[in-house]
Amino acid sequence: MQFSRRRFFQQTLLGAALTGSSDFWSRAANLMDHSNQKRSPVVIATWGQNIKATDAAWGILGKGGYALDAVEAGARVPEADPNDTSVGYGGFPDRDGNITLDACVMDEHGMAGSVSFLQHIMHPVSVARQVMEKTPHVMLTGEGALQFALSQGFPRENLLTETARKAWEEWKIKSEYKPKINVERHDTIGIVAQDAAGRLCGACSTSGLAFKMHGRVGDSPIIGAGLYVDNEVGAVSCTGLGEIVLRSLGAFLAVEEMRRGASPQKAVETAIKRIYQKYPAQCKENQIGFVALDKKGRHGAYSVHTGFNYAICRDGKSLVYEAGHLL
Ligand code: ASP
Repeated sequence: MQFSRRRFFQQTLLGAALTGSSDFWSRAANLMDHSNQKRSPVVIATWGQNIKATDAAWGILGKGGYALDAVEAGARVPEADPNDTSVGYGGFPDRDGNITLDACVMDEHGMAGSVSFLQHIMHPVSVARQVMEKTPHVMLTGEGALQFALSQGFPRENLLTETARKAWEEWKIKSEYKPKINVERHDTIGIVAQDAAGRLCGACSTSGLAFKMHGRVGDSPIIGAGLYVDNEVGAVSCTGLGEIVLRSLGAFLAVEEMRRGASPQKAVETAIKRIYQKYPAQCKENQIGFVALDKKGRHGAYSVHTGFNYAICRDGKSLVYEAGHLL
């Protein structure tokens, strides 16, 4: 079995080399890079303010811990932060004054868990993980997700802070629903990590668009849209106007680019360009941004407009960088 598999790889690679395939070497590297060998851990998260999240994730990765524990710990930071108005506690409500949360996780085995339209629970990312680990399902929503969370011991809490309530009261005066690039509360955390054992995992958590319609669910809890992880290839998470990412399955699209041999940077650039070509009008008016890691621990980040930044931690020191952008 081992022997024939190796021969298959050799023949495939030899064939590619003989036919002069331009991406022969990157394909060869990918084929040889599927194992969970020892790696330098790395974690990357959407938006610079999530530097506290990459620090928390490093607290686990730096000790040789599990990438899934790391991304969950990372996502829990903005979820519990009352000053973060787009994730968990302190998130801005929908137009009827309800905070409804979306989150998901995906692990190195391709298993996934997700909650959407969840109310009253501060840590949707942890509920999503419980959905993955304790139920036969991938996604629970609304009242069912809440009942499940309560049954697992998550406390029911009031997540509406005074600041968020005031912002909503102010919004109601005009009730205008016009998202603006980078200021429409796009601080969703998408966080992907590789641990020392080479395992790739990811998480995503958001309160969604501020003052959205009641019942609206964005890209963040949708596997393949807001988050996708393929342990043999790479992991991607997205932020920005969820409707665009949902229609294009943005995270899956970028992971598939890596599967074809692209570096994480090239993969997110290609994905954003393709989405822009398909939805130019919406992209001109709205921001979307992607972060990516591949199996070799390389990273990439890219957005449609300027203003998207990300936090990354390797070797214990989290740093914030501006991502490249298309327009
Ligand atoms: N993608 C999120 C959503 O559409 C918003 C965000 O990134 O802040 O719900």
